[in-house]
Amino acid sequence: MPITPFHFGPGAALKAAAPGNFSFTVFAFSQVLIDLEPVCLYFLTGDPAHPYLHTYLGALAVALLSVWPGRRVCEWALRVWNSRMSPAQARWLAFAPSIGLREALTGAFLGAYSHVFIDSFMHGDLYPLAPFSQAGQLVQIVSIETLQWILVGFGVAGLAALALLRSRGRI
Ligand SMILES: [Zn+2]
Repeated sequence: MPITPFHFGPGAALKAAAPGNFSFTVFAFSQVLIDLEPVCLYFLTGDPAHPYLHTYLGALAVALLSVWPGRRVCEWALRVWNSRMSPAQARWLAFAPSIGLREALTGAFLGAYSHVFIDSFMHGDLYPLAPFSQAGQLVQIVSIETLQWILVGFGVAGLAALALLRSRGRI
């Protein structure tokens, strides 16, 4: 982590940049999946560590699981989400419930790999190139506050761009 939702910011920006080629839902699924690692380890051992999934090798497993079965889980979640909308809400907040394979692949791989990269700035126990190398740590290059503001900035810009695209009927 930064707390998982901070990672959604770049996802919103990516969705705005390439709306037809990128699944934000699969991106978000990969964020939650990868952060189950420190959450589960915290409950099991008391230490929210990042040893396996928070590596570029582990991110491959996260990305593949996000494509399958994650893509199907996301399509189901979108159907449930859409079914709860009033027509007025659906105008802004409903989304096509089917996710193409290319959208799923970009969402999953950009999600998992951006997560490890961003977390590399935060956690002293995170070795992104493990088990091959102890290199790749980026801690203390920027403060956690700066990093979080950057992620929020991506999120605000992405949401604004998405709202604009929706208002013009582009998404
Ligand atoms: Zn994380």
